[in-house]
Amino acid sequence: MRSDAALALAITALVLFLLANFSPLMAIDVGGRGQSVRLGSGVAGLADHDLAPLAVFVLAISILAPLGRVVALGYVLFRLRGAGRPHHLAPVLRFAERMRPWAMLDVFLIGALIALTKLHDLAAINIGVGLWALGLLVVALAAFDMTADRRALWDQVSPPHRLSKQPSPGSWLGCRECGLVQPLASHCTRCRARLHQRKPQSVHRCAALVVTGLVLYLPANLYPVLTVISFGRGTTATIIGGVSELMTGSDWPLAVIVFGASVAVPLLKLVGLGSLLLSTRLRWRRRLADRTRLYRLIELVSRWSSVDIFVTALLTALVTLGNLATVEPGLGILAFGAVVFVTMLATESFDPRLIWDAAGANHV
Ligand SMILES: [Zn+2]
Repeated sequence: MRSDAALALAITALVLFLLANFSPLMAIDVGGRGQSVRLGSGVAGLADHDLAPLAVFVLAISILAPLGRVVALGYVLFRLRGAGRPHHLAPVLRFAERMRPWAMLDVFLIGALIALTKLHDLAAINIGVGLWALGLLVVALAAFDMTADRRALWDQVSPPHRLSKQPSPGSWLGCRECGLVQPLASHCTRCRARLHQRKPQSVHRCAALVVTGLVLYLPANLYPVLTVISFGRGTTATIIGGVSELMTGSDWPLAVIVFGASVAVPLLKLVGLGSLLLSTRLRWRRRLADRTRLYRLIELVSRWSSVDIFVTALLTALVTLGNLATVEPGLGILAFGAVVFVTMLATESFDPRLIWDAAGANHV
């Protein structure tokens, strides 16, 4: 019953996804000249301005990852209705799980609403069917995540085996992909993922990525993220400049969101992960649970720092009215995109179990 509802929600999400892709999200009208954008327009807008790496990143997190995840999960749910359990269902489900942190349509929706607010003073704006479809899509995906029980899904794809003998402490291992607890081996017996007691090279990889993020954080904040050109005059805006601009109007709730997403979250990731690495290295034994909670918080909010990337991508694609008004992305947004990407990888590569290992609280 539950999986029927999940399948219905996956199909609904697919239909809404097509609608959001092929109907305009919003359109502007300045002095009789108009322009509209769809879900993928931001990707094209960034690519047109020689920001191909950022365009690829936006394509991945706003289209490929959410679409791939829904199609993969819908397929698994559909095949589970039949009698057979084909072997390829496990890798398909694993693929869907890997796409999960990178699927950011909810963040995109907030980005679209901020872009709308920013354009309010500049031009007449019409909200299109695509934006309503995107809103409903985000709701459908949230309902889908609440309905589809991932643990039950894995059990249906391949039921866990009963262990023949009780393993000794320290020889148990939980698979990071499907969650199955099993005796130590090179590969998971259920999903065939490689098994590691701890994420490989966790501290080194995370430290290298945090340092890279810190280095990129400077140009991300010093260079303009976008330039508004109107009647031959250009005004540039940095990330902080964009926040203070929103602050001066009546849009302070949006200013708080943009400040949180673009300034506070990247800093929390860099400083937070840095402090976790340092405290693990120094083998601190205090506040183990608090530090684990800090990691979970970083994991939870990490993706929200993409908001400004979506805002810039949409504005770049929408405001292309020649001399009248044009928005061009700046180098700052490329560096900022790199900060988001690198810090997401850093968050993923840190293994919070190392906090407990370093304090001698684990049997490893
Ligand atoms: Zn597994």
